Amino acid sequence: MLRTIERRPVIRTLRGWAISVLKEAGAIRECEEHGWMQDRSDPHARERAFEIACEYSPDGISAEAAAVAIAEVLDSIGDTCPECPQSDG
Ligand SMILES: [Zn+2]
Repeated sequence: MLRTIERRPVIRTLRGWAISVLKEAGAIRECEEHGWMQDRSDPHARERAFEIACEYSPDGISAEAAAVAIAEVLDSIGDTCPECPQSDG
């Protein structure tokens, strides 16, 4: 039986790559229950993510484009999970 196994070493999209960098740097985290990404609002982690992005930008992607991708992902992610019940503290 033929099966198509998707096993690509290269991350498919620049956005996917940016998310993985942000996760590695600890700038975002995934909601354990719902899987939504949350911005941790940690300036040091963000700084680190940009450093990683510039230093290890994907093949064919300039450090500048990599940094833009990181910024765009941060921009699109809220600091709370949309499905978690919100508390006012
Ligand atoms: Zn959640």
